[in-house]
Amino acid sequence: MTSNQPSICFFNTLTRKKEVFIPLVPSKVKIYTCGPTVYDYAHIGNFRAFLFEDLLKRWLVYQGFKVTHVMNLTDIDDKTIKGSQKQGIALAQFTDFYIKAFFEDIKVLNIQPADVYPKATDHIPEMVQLIKTLIAKCIAYKGEDGSIYFSVCKFPDYGKLSHIKVSELKAGARVCQDEYCKEEAQDFALWKAWTLEDGDVFWETELGKGRPGWHIECSAMSSKYLGETFDIHCGGVDNMFPHHENEIAQSEGATGKKFVNYWMHNEHLQVEGKKMSKRFGNFYTLRDLLAKGYDPIAIRYLLMSTHYRQQFNFTFEGLEAAKAAVERLRNFVRRLHEVEGTTSTGKVATLMAKLEAGFGGSMDDDLNIGIALSSLFDFVREINSMLDANIVSKDEAAEVGGLMMRLDEVLGVIGKLEVEEALPSDIDALVQKREEARKAKNWKEADTIRAQLKAMGIVLEDTAQGVRWHKEKA
Ligand SMILES: [Zn+2]
Repeated sequence: MTSNQPSICFFNTLTRKKEVFIPLVPSKVKIYTCGPTVYDYAHIGNFRAFLFEDLLKRWLVYQGFKVTHVMNLTDIDDKTIKGSQKQGIALAQFTDFYIKAFFEDIKVLNIQPADVYPKATDHIPEMVQLIKTLIAKCIAYKGEDGSIYFSVCKFPDYGKLSHIKVSELKAGARVCQDEYCKEEAQDFALWKAWTLEDGDVFWETELGKGRPGWHIECSAMSSKYLGETFDIHCGGVDNMFPHHENEIAQSEGATGKKFVNYWMHNEHLQVEGKKMSKRFGNFYTLRDLLAKGYDPIAIRYLLMSTHYRQQFNFTFEGLEAAKAAVERLRNFVRRLHEVEGTTSTGKVATLMAKLEAGFGGSMDDDLNIGIALSSLFDFVREINSMLDANIVSKDEAAEVGGLMMRLDEVLGVIGKLEVEEALPSDIDALVQKREEARKAKNWKEADTIRAQLKAMGIVLEDTAQGVRWHKEKA
């Protein structure tokens, strides 16, 4: 960081322009990102969004900002209620299972955790309060069914994010199909009156017996943890309307202040050129890919390496290429540790400066990761050929290694390679578990563990003296 504030530009969905990022408080950034609905394992489309947000955060931190990040957990909606009823268990028991799974998934993808993960069910009083404010301002009303609705016509700015026209909404369309008993077709529910389908899921509040709508949770929880106005709100492009549009209407309707300064949306993910759907047989959760033996860090690399505002086409070929790219970076760093030479041409420092400028300039330009990565691989190629010629000194190699580690704070794909060396106790435990499975002639289990170890880069050899393991050579 050269001056107080680096010059970072983001494409702001609100203005449809790239803008210089200026936080409300110098050097501090407050970010809210819409989190998972915890009724199932998260799929790779979800993780594309979470990885874009991780890259954004990591880049801001790299540039010296102190980031406060809040991600909500939607644990109350039609899907979570249905899911818990189907399994015949309490809502909290059902959602806790998927919350735990979500945290395991983000850990394995090396996603840095948010500062707060508020659950919707823990914030009912805050939502009730917000709805009461909207009622007092006559922006919300009680429908004949007892539900509380937001009156879209009372908020003239409605549509400013998505560019949806209210007049077009009235004509029919896709908004709020599941809502009824309201004055205008486009009005959306803030509080849903209890119905039989909700079973034992309800709250007795001043608004009546019922439960909150989805949109209100993000308005209530973002303001609780980040204030009435904050810097950045992210999410997938499919959340722009109606979810984010409604968040703006609720929050700005209640406070009269601007809700969010920068809105950032990532584009859709396709799989093998098609919309990802269970119907097409191309629907993958992270766990599906891990079960096929893919390395989570290769998945991380693949999902974040296309610019967030471009449609991304997930392919298994791409996943193989991502694995090779990660290995190339890791091998490069390993090679740097082995340099013992003293010869220097002075060129390394120039190349390092060029990389820092190329990588940094690209990332500052609306997180242009594609160009940033190509600067990185150009650098790796050039230094590798200098290593071949033995014209890099030990000190220079250490400096290059340091730069690689700094950039990996942003990418999160190389990791601490020396830490890998300190892992054998975990590996041994798995190897032993496999041995026991083999003795018990449980070949399926033994094969699963072998695949699991392979995903960790450990190859097993069954010898006459017993099993041996070594690290996979790329
Ligand atoms: Zn949200």
